[in-house]
Amino acid sequence: MTKTTWETRRKNSLRTRLAHAGRKPFDQYGFVNTPVYRGSTVLFETAEAFHSHAQPYTYATKGTPTTRALEEAWTEIAGAELSVAASSGLAAIALALMTAAKAGDHLLVTDSAYEPTRIFCDGLLKRFGVETQYYDPRAGADISALIRPNTSAIVTESPGSLSMEIQDVPAIAKVAATHGVCVILDNTWATPIFFPAHEHGVDLCVEAATKYLSGHADLLMGLVSANKAWAKRLRATYDALAMCPGGDDAYLALRGLRTMELRMREQERAGLALAKWLQEREEVSRVLHPALPSHPDHALWKRDFGGAAGLFSVILRPAPKQALSAFLNRLELFGIGYSWGGYESLVIPFDCRRARTATQWAPEGPTLRFSIGLEDVEDLQADLAAGFEAMKKTGI
Ligand SMILES: *Cc1c(COP(=O)(O)O)cnc(C)c1O
Repeated sequence: MTKTTWETRRKNSLRTRLAHAGRKPFDQYGFVNTPVYRGSTVLFETAEAFHSHAQPYTYATKGTPTTRALEEAWTEIAGAELSVAASSGLAAIALALMTAAKAGDHLLVTDSAYEPTRIFCDGLLKRFGVETQYYDPRAGADISALIRPNTSAIVTESPGSLSMEIQDVPAIAKVAATHGVCVILDNTWATPIFFPAHEHGVDLCVEAATKYLSGHADLLMGLVSANKAWAKRLRATYDALAMCPGGDDAYLALRGLRTMELRMREQERAGLALAKWLQEREEVSRVLHPALPSHPDHALWKRDFGGAAGLFSVILRPAPKQALSAFLNRLELFGIGYSWGGYESLVIPFDCRRARTATQWAPEGPTLRFSIGLEDVEDLQADLAAGFEAMKKTGI
């Protein structure tokens, strides 16, 4: 068997690359998968080896063969120059922000950002002398009016957490490039499979691998990928912080990576089917799913994205809290819980009104976020129908 090189793999389709990326079977006796390396200390055979700084591994905070296999695979899939694996998605966001910002800087962050991103900016980054300004997720090229001489980064997330606005990331990246501003994207929803961020001008791309990459609700992991311009700074920030994941989690992430596209395609199909069904229900006011023509940013999604994740939000018609609780409590297949992207379907009620400062979010009724898993669509539909029945029975 000839060893495949990165160059030969690059010619293959994404699906093929997902099966082969990051693997070096003949470096480990031909075994297909990179094994779990657990460790802190790495030994040097001689004093000369110790002094030479030539050993590929020197201490586990700087990487092990397992974490490096994951990072190399991700670099290839993300079309990046370099990737680093962090211990959670939020740690990856912190890593990207700390790579781009320094004391005295100004950051522009989308008003639709994942709430812990805001908490990080408004708390820790503020304490370190970084000012954050929130902007309308639909700003597009108009973001240029907000850029100041000390603006170091524009943080994007598309679609936005919970409220699902699609951002014009290519337009923002174009403006940012003319000002020498770093563009950060939280690409957890689309992943490089549906949105190749670096091709669209993103400098630092964050993936909460906890979600679709892992796909099994059994680990926390974050990845940051960088283009050529930002690779060195990302590596230096990572080495300074040592936010490294353990070998077992890196192994599980690599296992998830192999089937990621198949799962996402299936979850896209099931998610869209349920979104369409929900849209027709009398209890539902609006379904916020970018692949539906009724979504306000559908055209942008169609222009830039190669698919849709199985995560979307729903605004119900006005209903009292007890009716909503009756709906949620009746569900047997949908678990009530945070996170998403796993094989099991989830739902959470949410209210992101308080997490807005630049724009208004004023839904006409209670809001729910669904993560569609790998169960049979008809079973999931029946579960939701039973939930709506229970809601009706409350008679309120
Ligand atoms: C879940 C999530 C994260 C954080 O990932 P964790 O691994 O849970 O820390 C970041 N961004 C988005 C959009 C998320 O949904």
